[in-house]
Amino acid sequence: MNAMILLNTLMPGQVVLEYSYLLSAIMFVIGLKLQSHPETARKGNFWAASGMILPMITTLILNRNGEGEGIGLVNVIAILLIISAGTVVGAIMARKVKMTAMPQMVSFFNATGGAASAAVALIEYIKNPGQAVLVGLLGLVVGSIAFSGSMIAYGKLDGKVGDIFSKVMTYVNLIFMAVIVIVILLVLFGGFDVQSRTYLVYGLLVLSLVYGVSFVMPIGGADMPVVISLLNSLTGIAAAMAGFIYQNEAMILGGILVGAAGTILTLQMCKAMNRSLINVIIGSFGGGGASHADVQGSIKEITLSDAAVLLSYSQKVVIIPGYGLAVAQAQHIAHELDSLLGSKGVEVKYAIHPVAGRMPGHMNVLLAEADVPYEQLVEMDDINPDMPNVDVAIVVGANDVVNPAAYDDPGSPIYGMPIIDAHLAKNIIIMKRGMGKGYAGIENFLFFNDKTRMLFGDAKGTMTKLVSEIKSM
Ligand code: NAP
Repeated sequence: MNAMILLNTLMPGQVVLEYSYLLSAIMFVIGLKLQSHPETARKGNFWAASGMILPMITTLILNRNGEGEGIGLVNVIAILLIISAGTVVGAIMARKVKMTAMPQMVSFFNATGGAASAAVALIEYIKNPGQAVLVGLLGLVVGSIAFSGSMIAYGKLDGKVGDIFSKVMTYVNLIFMAVIVIVILLVLFGGFDVQSRTYLVYGLLVLSLVYGVSFVMPIGGADMPVVISLLNSLTGIAAAMAGFIYQNEAMILGGILVGAAGTILTLQMCKAMNRSLINVIIGSFGGGGASHADVQGSIKEITLSDAAVLLSYSQKVVIIPGYGLAVAQAQHIAHELDSLLGSKGVEVKYAIHPVAGRMPGHMNVLLAEADVPYEQLVEMDDINPDMPNVDVAIVVGANDVVNPAAYDDPGSPIYGMPIIDAHLAKNIIIMKRGMGKGYAGIENFLFFNDKTRMLFGDAKGTMTKLVSEIKSM
């Protein structure tokens, strides 16, 4: 009822504007829903992007300030020029980026989102220095942390920035956090004159930027996807804060949705890696986990021709892709292999672990790029009950996500992590270059299993030879 009264008192243009914001929020939700499945993800992107464009257009045309003035032609032209420049740069980057460099790009884009939110908060403060409000200061802090933290994450993923593992950093970061809170309280309640308060706000900006760096520096490079997801949710929260400053519902709703989706993704990734968020942030991972069990059995290899025969005379084959598939860029040849086996009447499926590779949905994206039909991709929970009926499990560049230590070895860092039950298949073929460890840096007993045969070599090269071998049979 109140909302109706409010809408009736608004000018018609304002009413259209408010409805366009509501519509945009609905489009974001539809977009998110569609993005949750690979088959509909592209459509989801389209819906979310349209949900972004709609309020931009209506705001440019219909937005009025307190005196009823619009944005003004000069401003509109300036805004359109800037949007066009951003669109061109973004489109070129997205087209050029290699699939393996996707996490870096996401991180870079996230940094720009954080910077934009921090800039909004700072500009609003400069416009009204007498009126420092909590949401403005939080927008500045969260946006700055998201910006500098994402830039460091980008540098780490791109191999330009190294890790600084030190427990001291945990304490340094706690001190940073405490100082930031104190400065916020001083700005709000310290009773300072406008100039001193402005200095404090600039100090807050610098502190937050430095904190973003020191927060991400000690986190291991391979943990970056979790951190990026966390920073992404921070960017959403910063955007929502900026929305509160402008009293813009589209920004508030969009920001909250990004914040919530980012938080859920962060927690889901932690769960799939069997780690707590605190453990990701504070502890470094990998590089020799303390496993208590001794390796039993020996490594046995298989020749290409034996592998070709085994696969051709199987009924059910499951390909389990992992990070090595991405490194080798073996997705296209994997699809050729599955089609070839399919033409011989073999049922071939792909088993998808939620954290296989180095970013959420990594395997889905790679296999979609190679046009593997979505029906062939089966989630871990759905394929595991069927694994005992599988004739051959082909593990392509995967390691941790098939390591039975997750079940058997309470001393292992991955103990309790859900895995794909490759060890239950009747035969297991492992394709990897050598005895290199995975992300967790631990031994994998699956390689020593009696049913396992190793096919050493780069995944793409090995599979190319395997395909020729099967064809020549
Ligand atoms: P992984 O445990 O990192 O193992 C990858 C394996 O691929 C390595 O053992 C390596 O062995 C092999 N490899 C590398 N290059 C290869 C090539 N060119 N050809 C063939 N093999 C190659 O990978 P995963 O099983 O996919 O597990 C992912 C890990 O990353 C999990 O521990 C997960 O928790 C973690 N993680 C995932 C995410 C995510 O969002 N997906 C985020 C953060 C962390 P060789 O060196 O012997 O070849």
